[in-house]
Amino acid sequence: MNIAANLQQIRAEIAAACLRAARDPEAVRLVAVSKTKSAAAISEAATAGQRIFGESYVQEFLDKSPEVRQAVEWHFVGHLQSNKVKYLRDRVTLIHSVDRLSLAREIDRQWARCEHPLAVLMQVNLGDEDSKSGIAPDQAADLARAIAALPHLRLRGLMTLPPYFDDPEEVRPFFRRLRLLADEIAALALPGVRMEELSMGMSHDFTVAIEEGATLVRIGTAIFGSRS
Ligand SMILES: *Cc1c(COP(=O)(O)O)cnc(C)c1O
Repeated sequence: MNIAANLQQIRAEIAAACLRAARDPEAVRLVAVSKTKSAAAISEAATAGQRIFGESYVQEFLDKSPEVRQAVEWHFVGHLQSNKVKYLRDRVTLIHSVDRLSLAREIDRQWARCEHPLAVLMQVNLGDEDSKSGIAPDQAADLARAIAALPHLRLRGLMTLPPYFDDPEEVRPFFRRLRLLADEIAALALPGVRMEELSMGMSHDFTVAIEEGATLVRIGTAIFGSRS
């Protein structure tokens, strides 16, 4: 696995997708999803210029992140249990997966001790899949309103993990729906809420996601190889 070469390739594909969509490449940030991958692999990516890493499992993150010596930024992208939020305090800069009020309240409680509020995204389950986390689209506005009232959280956008299709074109309508939902929530003009981030697109469909407005693409396999 040549991590540096993979990163270079992905950056080129991001730039090409931005060009096709007449978007500024600076408006798309790459989150290297490093779950199950070693600190050595993460350090290799960091040496190749990657700055943001996304993790999904709290214990694994706590075990390996101290071994990464470079100045990197950590995002949490996985399903999060409320009783583990305390371990993320002061260690992550963005949680992509806020999908219920009880979780938002616990993040608020923990970040009350921090100097700065935490930026969060709401995870939306657009495929109505029981197996996936995420708030139902018709409840997203209510959750956004509730999060807006929490002083130590800053709602900055939406995230989705759409159903898997072999053909990325079939995912396009899901990405589009996330963007429209973000527009609807933005129109509520909730105090302190900015719908500026759309976290969508993974290894096999990120170029489609960028064409549909993604600002954060979460890529694992295409950088680090398959997870065993
Ligand atoms: C694992 C994971 C990814 C990365 O998926 P790849 O297909 O390996 O790029 C992105 N987002 C979330 C939430 C994940 O859990």
